[in-house]
Amino acid sequence: MASLSFSSVGKRFSDGTLALSRVDLEVKDGEFLVLVGPSGCGKSTLLRSAAGLETLTQGRIAIGGKDVTDLGPGDRDIAMVFQNYALYPHMDVFENMAFGLGQRKVPKDIIRQKVEQAARTLDLTPYLRKRPGSLSGGQRQRVAMGRAIVRDPQCFLMDEPLSNLDAKLRVQMRAELKLLNASLGVTTLYVTHDQVEAMTMGDRVAVLKPVTEESESNLQQCAAPRELYENPVNLFVAGFIGSPAMNFFKARPVRQDGALGCVIAGTDMVLPLTAAQAAVRRYLAKSIDRELILGVRPEAFLYPNPSPGGLSSEVLMTEMTGADAYVFFDLKGEQSNRITARIDPRFLPERGAPLTMGVDMDRAHFFDPETGLALRS
Ligand code: ATP
Repeated sequence: MASLSFSSVGKRFSDGTLALSRVDLEVKDGEFLVLVGPSGCGKSTLLRSAAGLETLTQGRIAIGGKDVTDLGPGDRDIAMVFQNYALYPHMDVFENMAFGLGQRKVPKDIIRQKVEQAARTLDLTPYLRKRPGSLSGGQRQRVAMGRAIVRDPQCFLMDEPLSNLDAKLRVQMRAELKLLNASLGVTTLYVTHDQVEAMTMGDRVAVLKPVTEESESNLQQCAAPRELYENPVNLFVAGFIGSPAMNFFKARPVRQDGALGCVIAGTDMVLPLTAAQAAVRRYLAKSIDRELILGVRPEAFLYPNPSPGGLSSEVLMTEMTGADAYVFFDLKGEQSNRITARIDPRFLPERGAPLTMGVDMDRAHFFDPETGLALRS
């Protein structure tokens, strides 16, 4: 196994589309790194360029410290798993898994040994003589994985490998793939547009966004899932990671009776901060009366509201998932944003009922409205 590194990678397609710009990223040896972002952010292009299926217009790619930028796909020692599995329908499972090795003229007994070993790892032994057409989606997905494993590649590249599975199977395969990765210790670069998949599978997650200028970078933040969730570096990451998404408000820090508070712009609603909360957010005292963006995750609302102040509205709609309940409400006036709060289902209010929602300011995020960057200390 080996590390996979991208240095100042850029890709402009011949029709002029800028897909990648200034991407610097290293997938460490044995790491499972997930690329996530909205459609068109360049995830597949980055993965395909690692595979040698796209030619870069800028930058270099190295695998295990060796520059592979100018090598073809066959010379890179990687294995790719696609969304559609790309299995051969006329070959059985054994033949599908053995195919790549046969092409490389690996001796037959070695092939048999490798395929049988991979089939055991993936619980595919009873299916070796079946054709893909008679397998379930999850089994086909495992055959595609098996075909990658038998090659003993330096790294795995996976492009939305679970997206054709139904929701339940996807959750199951998600855990299996992660376990498999942990047991094989294979360096893996994994593409998904599903942020829950990204957060649950990735040792680290790289969030990408589409670029229009070469001066920008697609890469917004690359961090462990928890860090990404708790400390998003900018509005893009904050809004993309988390489901339901973070709620955003325009808010102004104010001083009230010697304490700090935040006024929700266009309203007289105030969210007070304790001295301790203000002390770890020194930027607030430096931004008195300046409009900032306040970010509140659905679970950072307090209901019933134990504190003075808070947001007042009325319940627009509720949703009960069993373990959780969600309350949807609007802020009247200048900011007509729809807000989603997660609350304890025992306190689920009636639709149309008046509502006062507290905010746990320990978990509040603040962003600069001009740069979109998170404000820190
Ligand atoms: P999705 O989640 O929709 O698959 P993605 O994040 O994988 O999106 P890419 O497929 O890498 O995004 O595409 C990045 C950008 O490059 C998009 O604007 C896309 O339209 C463009 N693009 C991709 N392939 C080509 C191509 N062969 N020629 C021209 N433009 C392309």
